[in-house]
Amino acid sequence: MNNRVTVLDKEFEISITAKQISDIINGLAARINNDLKNKDVVFLGILNGSFIFAADLFRKINFPSKITFLKLASYDGLSSSGKIKRLIGLNESIKDKTLVIIEDIIDSGNTLEHIIMQLRGYEPKEIKIATLVFKPMAYKKDFKIDYIGMEIPNDFIVGYGLDYDGYGRNLENIYTLVDDVNNKDLKNFIIFGSPGAGKGTQASKLAEKYNLIHISTGDILRQEISKNTKLGKIAKNIIDKGEFISDEIIIDIIADFLDKNKKNGFVFDGFPRTLSQAKIFDKMLKEKNLKIEAVIDLNIDEETVKKRMIRRGKIYGRIDDLDENTIKHRLDIYNEITKPIINYYKKNKNIITINASKKIDEVFNQIIKKIN
Ligand code: AMP
Repeated sequence: MNNRVTVLDKEFEISITAKQISDIINGLAARINNDLKNKDVVFLGILNGSFIFAADLFRKINFPSKITFLKLASYDGLSSSGKIKRLIGLNESIKDKTLVIIEDIIDSGNTLEHIIMQLRGYEPKEIKIATLVFKPMAYKKDFKIDYIGMEIPNDFIVGYGLDYDGYGRNLENIYTLVDDVNNKDLKNFIIFGSPGAGKGTQASKLAEKYNLIHISTGDILRQEISKNTKLGKIAKNIIDKGEFISDEIIIDIIADFLDKNKKNGFVFDGFPRTLSQAKIFDKMLKEKNLKIEAVIDLNIDEETVKKRMIRRGKIYGRIDDLDENTIKHRLDIYNEITKPIINYYKKNKNIITINASKKIDEVFNQIIKKIN
């Protein structure tokens, strides 16, 4: 067996063999057969990546059920937020059925969120999720993944349906990108700006484009809240009021994250937010031999921000985005405590200033142009 393969310009090393994949699928199928045998099930394979996994898994399903394939397609919708991903290919009636979404890989969960949101509109009885591989370190959503074949680190993989720029899907085994560790091509960025400036959106686009890891302290805290952990319980009241979590807790989160991800290539979003965080962070970076390529400062006027935040609050049910007083309070804290960090960074970091009041893609294009 070939342990290494080249796909386009990159080299990959075997990480999950065809035999292991087959064992994983047998295990998943056994669980699904057991749990869902008495239900009216439609399997939904998500294209393109899951076509091989879906076929192999479905062959091991031993009760009467259907399978159909869906695809998420980008199109320019009328929404002011620009691109929307729309689910196409649904030609089965799925009302009152048990749906099993079949994904080859779940990382950030963004795609999954789009799919689930749109499927709910068809009023299925329940939605289950099955994935061959899952990246817990990258996952940012709250949806429970019912059937996980294997948890993997935050590496780039190809093979068995998974692609690099469209190629590599035909490989029998799964392979991991080689030489990613300390890859000098991978850079680190800080996305800076007021609440509602679009930090999360731009950070996630940047991470996707350059294969970086997006770390949002806000997302991590919201996950803790949804899991009702000890930290989540502490964080909930503070966040809902629009106050800051203590520097100590935030630094712990970042230190823990850097320990688990011994690589280059991060986009820090929502951190640092105080001068003290920024100073401690500089020390940590030095110890880890990491360098910040640029601080991307998203500039936007307060009126636009207030409108955006209220819209986001309604869509995602974020309490801290819904109340006008809380929004005002967060903007005041930003102006008083967070914004001055830029003056500190002027001394030792590359700052890129971006007009963030434009549409998502226009803002992103400005960022790409300036970092190139
Ligand atoms: P965000 O999603 O970045 O807007 O963060 C939501 C909330 O999480 C903030 O309003 C703070 O309460 C808390 N939070 C996130 N990051 C930090 C940080 N670096 N320092 C203090 N609090 C934070």
